[in-house]
Amino acid sequence: VLERLLTELGERSDYDAVSQCTRCGYCAQACPTYRGTGREAWSGRGRNLIVRMLIENKLKDRETAEEVLSTCLLCGACTTACPGKVPTADLVLEGRRMLRGGKAHWLASAAARLLSENPALLESLLRWAYRFKRWGLARLAARTRVLRVFGLRGLEEAALRVDEAPAAFLKEELSRDPELRGSAQARWIYFAACGPRYLLPRVGRATIRVLKALRGKGSFIEHGCCGLLAYNYGKLDAARAMARANIERFEAADRREDAPLVCDCSSCAAFMKSYPQLFLDDPKWRSRAESFAAQVQDAVEALPADKLPAGPFAETVTYHDSCRARNGQHLTEPPRAVMRALAGDRFRELPGSDQCCGGAGAFTFLHPALSDELMRSKINGIASIQARTVAASSTSCLLQLAEGLKKYYPECRVVHLCELAAEALVSPDAPAPKGPDGEHPKT
Ligand code: SF4
Ligand code: SF4
Repeated sequence: VLERLLTELGERSDYDAVSQCTRCGYCAQACPTYRGTGREAWSGRGRNLIVRMLIENKLKDRETAEEVLSTCLLCGACTTACPGKVPTADLVLEGRRMLRGGKAHWLASAAARLLSENPALLESLLRWAYRFKRWGLARLAARTRVLRVFGLRGLEEAALRVDEAPAAFLKEELSRDPELRGSAQARWIYFAACGPRYLLPRVGRATIRVLKALRGKGSFIEHGCCGLLAYNYGKLDAARAMARANIERFEAADRREDAPLVCDCSSCAAFMKSYPQLFLDDPKWRSRAESFAAQVQDAVEALPADKLPAGPFAETVTYHDSCRARNGQHLTEPPRAVMRALAGDRFRELPGSDQCCGGAGAFTFLHPALSDELMRSKINGIASIQARTVAASSTSCLLQLAEGLKKYYPECRVVHLCELAAEALVSPDAPAPKGPDGEHPKT
């Protein structure tokens, strides 16, 4: 376990942080799992009590503790609602680690391990999986349920839920782009999170296009995973190793000193901003992590709304708050300013925009029924305003909403906020965007 956390009220031991919970219950109605089940133990308050009992070594019912902690979405809505800013999601992760990893989905654990120990093997496996998917074999195997016979139900769910199967990985494309080579003039550095890197290259392409157009020269540096998956599945040393490697690469990159590291997955951006928490007992790395974290930007805050042209959106466009953007980074206004610039009065607020969509990484595989309930509630909100496009900013949300819309409201599509901005920039009616110095660069 980490033992100490960086909370909104300062550095605290786990015990002090969990003791800040006064059991007032303000977090209950904000908690999707409590609202969905009505179970006290499945609220922020209930989970904090379980963690406190674990620390006090008073909890004997390990199975209940595992269930209660594994069903937390780590969405952080409880902390946003909490007057004492109790860091429940971080405490839940500490509790899971106390239970030695808790109940992790094997697919997520395997992916976390491959990302940290053998990314080349992971890439090779993904290439084959995507080939099978493009040939229709993965879906056939899932439909015939043959994977279950071999105990691979997780793969079956993944094959049915995820439609994407890119022919090439984003990093191959970006490494070949001469405009993205490091240079002392680089005003931004692009961090390809695992989602855009391995599964949704279209998102990364759009982010690069928009950054080039609006923020001028930038670059891409080869890097590994941010470490979030390892962190979430109890592998703290692996998460630290990945954090150190990313910090070193960023420090060594050819760039302007003030160039931010822009990441287009809100979950990864939020995690990289929290790197200092990994090094609380290591002053040298803590200080490097603090400097690094101060330069990380979520793509939703990196888009200059005042330079964006209006897009060709004739029908209602809306925005879903990814939990790690809203609760993890408090980024609610910047993406809305972008939406207003792009869609004007066709932008409508999404009812329940602040509620988790149920994606939450491997949650969707671990707890499919609850995940589907949250997804349906989200799609209901989208349908209630008759939106035809919904924008989001985390890979989990993009995949979850794509699945939900396909099932329940196919009239609407989901895109990353950067994809929406890129559509506006290439629209034939769009005025040329203003670049970082007020000039009009090519898009
Ligand atoms: S976590 Fe915060 S809001 Fe929830 S019961 Fe404890 S103090 Fe109250
Ligand atoms: S992080 Fe989300 S799911 Fe977990 S207790 Fe808090 S509000 Fe509930």
